[in-house]
Amino acid sequence: MVRIKARELMETHGTNSPIEIAAQRNIVVLVEDLGKHTWGYYTLTNRIPCIHINSRLDPDDALFAAAHELGHHVLHPGINTPFLRSNTLLSVDKIERQANRFAVHLLAGENEPEPGETKSQFLIRCGIHEMFHIFY
Ligand SMILES: [Zn+2]
Repeated sequence: MVRIKARELMETHGTNSPIEIAAQRNIVVLVEDLGKHTWGYYTLTNRIPCIHINSRLDPDDALFAAAHELGHHVLHPGINTPFLRSNTLLSVDKIERQANRFAVHLLAGENEPEPGETKSQFLIRCGIHEMFHIFY
């Protein structure tokens, strides 16, 4: 279900870049210093959706955070997600799991593992941090 949502979104927007999809959907993306433990969060204020990304993340993780928050926008409309701390990224919370699954499938995009490539090697090639591989 989440995987299908990610696929539909890629088809609609012609890209798997969460930044580009956000731009096309008029979602504001703010990169700001959120401290050491927060990757990002999503807000909907006065009907203006906004993705907040921690400027301290390396580029791959920042992209993952953007994809995760975009997942909340698509899957959980109207919910303001709380600050997403690095330890809650792996939360058993259903909406967090769904957003992580969405992000993994969005960032993997149309790519498939090469013959002989492990799932882990494949997902690293897609820029996805090892801690999220369980969501593929
Ligand atoms: Zn989240």
